Amino acid sequence: MTEAAFGHGPAGEERAAGGATGPAASGDLGPADVPATGPTAGASGDAGSSARSAGTAAEASASAASAETPSTDVLIVGGGPAGLSAALNLARARASVVVVDTGRPRNAATLRSHGFLTRDGISPIELRKLAREELRAYDGVRVLDRSAVARIDADADGFVAALTGRAATASPVLTARTVVVATGLGETLPDVPNLRAFYGMSIFSCAACDGWELQDEPVALIGETSDLADRARLLTRWTSHLTVCTNGADVIDPVDEAELVASGIVVERRVIADLAGERGQVAAVRFADGSSLAVAGGFVRPTWHAAHDFLDPLGPETDAEGHLITDRSGRTSVPGLYAAGDAAAPGPQQLIVAAGQGARVAAVLVQDLLGVRTAH
Ligand SMILES: Cc1cc2nc3c(=O)[nH]c(=O)nc-3n(C[C@H](O)[C@H](O)[C@H](O)COP(=O)(O)OP(=O)(O)OC[C@H]3O[C@@H](n4cnc5c(N)ncnc54)[C@H](O)[C@@H]3O)c2cc1C
Repeated sequence: MTEAAFGHGPAGEERAAGGATGPAASGDLGPADVPATGPTAGASGDAGSSARSAGTAAEASASAASAETPSTDVLIVGGGPAGLSAALNLARARASVVVVDTGRPRNAATLRSHGFLTRDGISPIELRKLAREELRAYDGVRVLDRSAVARIDADADGFVAALTGRAATASPVLTARTVVVATGLGETLPDVPNLRAFYGMSIFSCAACDGWELQDEPVALIGETSDLADRARLLTRWTSHLTVCTNGADVIDPVDEAELVASGIVVERRVIADLAGERGQVAAVRFADGSSLAVAGGFVRPTWHAAHDFLDPLGPETDAEGHLITDRSGRTSVPGLYAAGDAAAPGPQQLIVAAGQGARVAAVLVQDLLGVRTAH
C-alpha cells in the first residue's frame, strides 16, 4: 500500500474527481460506486460484466476479477458496531471503504441495548441507524445492505471477494487491498421449546448487558455447558434469587454444586418442558414432571458459532470454538486480514467493545499499510 491508495496522492485525486457517487451511499455496487483507488483506479466500463456472465456471485472467484473489477482499500465484512466503527475511522483516514452487510446482528432479538456510553437503553436498530447516518458525512464509504461476502481469495494485490445478494446484481466481485472481518457470531440456544419467544425480552445471555434490569429478582439460568457454575457465580452480582437449570445435562460437578447451594443458589437438574409467560415476559420455567418455577426473568448460556466459511480459501487460524485468532490489534494470521468484534477471539462481547475493536483495527490497519510503527 502506498500513500496514494489512501487518497493522499494521485489516486485520491482520482477519487475526488469521479470515483465516488455520493457520501456513504447505500445500494448497489457498480464500478462508479466504489471510490477508485489502487491498481484499478480510474478504470471505466461495466465492472460487473465479466463476473456476471460467469454465473452467480457465489461461483465468482479470484479468476473472475479483472482489470475492470471494482476495487477498494478496505472491504469490511459485517455492518454491526465493529464493522461500522472500523468504517468510520478508516474513512477519516481517507481510505476507500466498502461495508457489506447481511443485516442480521446478534442482538436483533432485543429491544434495548445497555452499557454503550451516551446510548444506554438505545434500541439496536437505532444504534445502527445513527452509525450509518454518521458515515454519510464521509466520501469514500459505501455500505452494501442485504448483501453477503460468499468467498474471499487472495490475489496479487490483496484479496478478491465474491458477493451475493443485492450488491451482486451490479458487481458480484470486488477486490480489496485489505479485509476486516466483523461478522459477529451465531447463537444456538439451549434445547428448550419456546425459549426463543422470550429471548432478548426477558431472557438474556449477557449478565453485564442485562443484569441490572433483573437485580434482586427471582431468575433462572438455563444452560447445558460446563461453565454453567461460573456463570451462576457471576450472576450473584445481580441477584441471590437464582436457580440454575441444567435441563437434564450433567454439567455441574458435585463440588461446584455444593458451593453454589451453600451460597443460596438452587441447582435444578430436571428436564425443562417449556416456559410460561406472554408477550415476551417469562413467568415460569415448567419442568417435564409437571412442576414449575416462578421467575421474573432469566439468562441462558447459548453456544456461539462463528460463520466465516467465506474465509476458507485463506485458512486463517481459529480457536477451538472457531473464533478468528488475532493479536491484540486485530491482525489475524493472514497478512492484510483483520478481525474485530464478536467474530474475534475470545468471542462474545459487548457493543462498545466491538466498536472499540473496530476503531483499533482501523488505526492499526492504516499504520500497517503505510509500514509505520507508532503507538499513536
Ligand atoms: C439478545 C442479545 C442482547 C444483547 N444486549 C446487549 C446489550 O444490551 N449491550 C451490549 O453491549 N451488547 C449486547 N449484546 C451483545 C452485542 O449484540 C454484540 O456484542 C455486538 O452486536 C457485536 O458486534 P459485532 O459488530 O461484532 O457483530 P454484530 O452486531 O452481530 O454484526 C455482525 C454483522 O455482520 C453481518 N454478517 C455476518 N456474516 C456476513 C457475511 N458473510 N457477509 C456480510 N455480512 C455478514 C451480520 O448480518 C451482522 O449485521 C447482546 C446480544 C444478544 C444476543
